Amino acid sequence: MKERRNPGSTFPLPLSSVTGPDRRSGGSSAGGARVATPQTATRNASQGGAKVPSHAPTAVAAPSKSHSQAMQRAVENAPAAPRPDLMVSAAIRHAMVARVARQGVKDSVVLSALDTVPRHAFIEPALSAQAYIDASLPIGHEQTISQPYIVARMIEVMRNGRQLERVLEIGTGCGYQAAVLACIAKEVFSIERIKPLHELAKVNLRPLRIANLRLHYGDGMLGLPQVAPFDGIILAAAGLEVPRALLEQLAIGGRLVAPVGAQVQHLQLITRTGKAEWLSETLEAVRFVPLRPGTV
Ligand code: SAH
Repeated sequence: MKERRNPGSTFPLPLSSVTGPDRRSGGSSAGGARVATPQTATRNASQGGAKVPSHAPTAVAAPSKSHSQAMQRAVENAPAAPRPDLMVSAAIRHAMVARVARQGVKDSVVLSALDTVPRHAFIEPALSAQAYIDASLPIGHEQTISQPYIVARMIEVMRNGRQLERVLEIGTGCGYQAAVLACIAKEVFSIERIKPLHELAKVNLRPLRIANLRLHYGDGMLGLPQVAPFDGIILAAAGLEVPRALLEQLAIGGRLVAPVGAQVQHLQLITRTGKAEWLSETLEAVRFVPLRPGTV
């Protein structure tokens, strides 16, 4: 469905914005149990629940970005001694990426980014065994880390095979998608409205030393006019409509991907086709946490 709308890195990082208390400050949540969170529901219902695949990937893309390679090095070089646990997580992550590819994500740059970012590092230890299943998981404050498939799908749709310069994410949460975005775009800005989650993302991201990512605490519905325009904008929370400020901050030719709706939500792709012209397409059904105004 289409309609016309006229709405009224490099690593390692200085990551000056990613400094803060050296401990997880906001991640307490449903202690250890697998919890059905908003974003899992649609796909779990349609696919009979996610599980860790037992086989190796068939076609995982080779890292093609220097960002990805640098992050890979940062991840591998972090501990001084060999870490069997990291090798295990890399193998499970390959399997996760292969599964996302089987689910239909084709963009090798996106798959490579997903293969690079250690998702387990964004999840509290009690839940880290579930880091590579295809589900969203609680991160505290009634919010979730998005499921890997939907992260990849939204980035693929936003990227559309382009080399992206500047990207904005609304809803940093624990920082996972921001880290994936930093592998595929030259500059990434991410905004979070819940202070403890903003702090948690800083703590999670610091060891990855991502130079091309800037975290902001604020109301993402207002965007970041001081650094606009953006080639791509991704919303990780669902509103009843896409905030006008974000449409205005899209570069001409830029693409915005957002979940839109309340009980029933769909991914919406909005392409800015001219100074005062946007093209909107409705994609698949999804389920996200709500987009809320203001900060807490
Ligand atoms: N990107 C995350 C997903 C986080 S869940 C990931 O990688 O998994 C969605 C996040 O959007 C929540 O942390 C929520 O607090 C945040 N959010 C909701 N409304 C917002 C707003 N107006 N501005 C910024 N963040 C918002």
